[in-house]
Amino acid sequence: MSENRPDKKRKKQPISDRRRFILNMARGIGLATMGGFIWSAYVDEVTASTLILRPPGALKEEDFLATCIKCGMCVEACPYDTLLLAKPGDHKPIGTPYFIPREIPCYMCPDIPCVPVCPTGALDQASVTNQETNELDINIAEMGLAVIDDESCIAFWGIQCDACYRACPLLDKAIKLQYDKNARTGKHAFLKPIVHADVCTGCGLCEKACVTEKAAIFVLPREVAMGKAGTHYIKGWDKKDEKRLEEASQIKTTTKISENSALDSLNDIGDLY
Ligand code: SF4
Ligand code: SF4
Repeated sequence: MSENRPDKKRKKQPISDRRRFILNMARGIGLATMGGFIWSAYVDEVTASTLILRPPGALKEEDFLATCIKCGMCVEACPYDTLLLAKPGDHKPIGTPYFIPREIPCYMCPDIPCVPVCPTGALDQASVTNQETNELDINIAEMGLAVIDDESCIAFWGIQCDACYRACPLLDKAIKLQYDKNARTGKHAFLKPIVHADVCTGCGLCEKACVTEKAAIFVLPREVAMGKAGTHYIKGWDKKDEKRLEEASQIKTTTKISENSALDSLNDIGDLY
């Protein structure tokens, strides 16, 4: 899948002593919070950021927090050390797994080893299982959504850069390059990266690859990054909305239709001025 993965031999390396120590400490603190609050854990819980990226298949944040037992199995299963368990001072619910794409993104393992090991279903296998093949499919994971700050993305200035586009494991699907003419110079072109929310998994390989000092493309949790149009809008051209369109056409309105023609109404308005 991704050509941008670090050396695969990492997979065979035993977990390092330092990492095991940190993992055990985070686990211990996670368990301590279950028995009774310690002050630092309490402070971290109340100041917890909403900008937390969870492993693939994670339930919605509220359900995830209620289901995850902070065992660290997912962290241990990750061959790239992507996943971390929150410690005091991380401003995240203590003992829960998360990742920081700018440091280590998710390398989108085809067998998603972090998910089946979860003993509680906090990482939901069904949500990353392809309905047609009945196999795990990392391409349908929704860890987050990449967003672009077009003020700091140099491609939007007209400088040629396709670092994020090339780094994306779903090449030319999750990020596409949009060609625009540069009206300022009249002879150059912009090749602007555009993220497609229906394909982007939020793995963060683009954020890791971004060449600017602070990444101009970065992953946010989907509920933070996305708006919501509301259920009363229907996309008549979208296959997914076909059923809703059919149902909507059966709804009878009791609102009396105006007996005036549209032109009469406009003339009435005109008379007011
Ligand atoms: S899918 Fe991502 S988070 Fe899960 S084990 Fe692979 S690299 Fe780690
Ligand atoms: S394996 Fe599941 S229960 Fe254990 S820390 Fe990871 S998400 Fe939580």
